[in-house]
Amino acid sequence: MPIRRAPLHALPPDVAERIAAGEVIERPASVVKELVENALDAGARDIRVELRGGGLHLIRVSDDGYGIPEDELERVCVRHTTSKINGIDDLFDLHSLGFRGEALASIATVSETTILSRAIETEMMGEEHAALWIMWRGGEVAQRGWRARPHGTTITVCDLFYNVPARLKFMRGARTENGHVLQLLRRYAVGYPAVRFNLILDEHIALQTSGSGDLAATLAELYHLPLNEMLHSIDVGEEGRYRIHGYIGNRVLAQSNRQYITLFINGRWVHARPLQEALEQGYRTLLPKGKHPLLVLNLELPPQEVDVNVHPTKTEVRLAQESTVATALTDAIRLVLERSPAHPQEVQFPGPVLASQRRLPGPRRRGLHVAESAEGYRAEIASAGSAEVIASLRPLAQLQQAVILAEAPDGSLYLVDQHRAHERIIYEHLRSMYTGVQTDEAVGAHMLLEPVLIEMKRHQADLLEQRLPMLRSLGLECERFGGRSFLIRSIPSGEGQEQLVAHLHELAETAAEDSIDWEDHLLISLACRSAMRRGRELSNGEQRTLLKALANVAAPAVCPHGSPVLLHYSRSFLIEKFDW
Ligand code: ADP
Ligand code: MG
Repeated sequence: MPIRRAPLHALPPDVAERIAAGEVIERPASVVKELVENALDAGARDIRVELRGGGLHLIRVSDDGYGIPEDELERVCVRHTTSKINGIDDLFDLHSLGFRGEALASIATVSETTILSRAIETEMMGEEHAALWIMWRGGEVAQRGWRARPHGTTITVCDLFYNVPARLKFMRGARTENGHVLQLLRRYAVGYPAVRFNLILDEHIALQTSGSGDLAATLAELYHLPLNEMLHSIDVGEEGRYRIHGYIGNRVLAQSNRQYITLFINGRWVHARPLQEALEQGYRTLLPKGKHPLLVLNLELPPQEVDVNVHPTKTEVRLAQESTVATALTDAIRLVLERSPAHPQEVQFPGPVLASQRRLPGPRRRGLHVAESAEGYRAEIASAGSAEVIASLRPLAQLQQAVILAEAPDGSLYLVDQHRAHERIIYEHLRSMYTGVQTDEAVGAHMLLEPVLIEMKRHQADLLEQRLPMLRSLGLECERFGGRSFLIRSIPSGEGQEQLVAHLHELAETAAEDSIDWEDHLLISLACRSAMRRGRELSNGEQRTLLKALANVAAPAVCPHGSPVLLHYSRSFLIEKFDW
């Protein structure tokens, strides 16, 4: 961030015309967003946001940024006046969040706005005079005066929409508006962990971060959870092309909404539909349906490759190398979730709306505990689903003839769902052979003593017929037997093959599914139906064999349906619960 700002100036009309136009001030949260972005652009390290009455009575944002020189203050509320870009070319090499020069103008028009600012230069020169403030009402300068303050800017917006009754009518209650602002501030707090954020809602502290610069610490401050244990850091990229860094919460932190997915591109929080889809693609099959991970990712791209001038709120962007980035995102997420075991601790996030004054994170016992040996725990958790750990699990016993209890070398306990583990092993085996990863091997066919006749619905019959050659490569020898009937002559050979016979009709229906995912669905069904059931007693040797095979798969922590295979009672969990 630049310490010194460029002088304020009006954008030439041709530049102003080419900037995506539209109303950006829709509700109190949009005012907060614009003011916080201005503070960040001003290099602030400490940003304090205060709201009263859901922001309709008062919004105040104070920062310790470089401030606005006295002789420019009056012009900051003139439309298309900015210190951030000069010409249209700057839009393609943008280093600031703002560039339209419209936010303050729009805000001042629909409220009573007061800006008090002191430029950092006056302080550096040791000048003793106070800072200038100007108040606008309905866009016109109403008053001005002087007040002491250190460098930085305080903008106070009172009576928002007082002169726009149509807009006021659409405002929900203060709780809703507070909720939007809280969510917004959480996003910026994780996007800028080196900045201290404070949010005060009707005189209660709703959010406070220390500005430590450590994203994991910031997340812990925001959610009051021993998050160290549950976060996996990501840092991937290609020199000069892109870098993706941040954290992914393990499966325990998965939530039923997308609220905790935060994506920043070059410091800008964005809604990038194709990237959101890439993210979802990354975790869709690894989490139960409807669950979304806690995710904070910062994408760094050359500014020339990011087009921000798409939408007036600047939350939509276009990327030059979208598919490269999307693939990298998908892979990064998979890498974590495929090996992330479930955890016995329930994780309850604070709701989106402030409950009441929340306690600040004090040096409570647990907090200290986690912090003291955070590094150790992090290493422990990071390896929780690794191949080495699973390969070295020592089976202790079988619970309910369904779950293997196993001890890891570090003394932590793993519970392994035997059916799901086996299902995952068979699924990956079938998939690697079917997709030709291991071309030297093919899925063998086990001929049935007597072919099985099945009857399909009309629309299924035609699809199934088209797919017969593909079924054959899976060991499923099947032929049309006139009309809507089919004869199945063989099934894939291998473990659990005898169990498949009872499910041939169901498998044929999956093979005739009218969906582009039918092949994967068929592999999943085959795996599910051949896998050993719960209720089967396993000898210690059989348990060991199963765990060894599990250690060799790519995604040992999740069954192909997205449910957990492993439940991990970490050492830190035991220490905490037994109070050792
Ligand atoms: P933009 O951010 O697109 O330039 P704004 O209307 O948000 O437009 O702000 C207009 C100008 O006012 C900015 O370009 C900047 O020079 C100045 N400004 C606004 N807020 C601050 C702040 N908190 N600190 C320093 N300068 C600011
Ligand atoms: Mg701005």
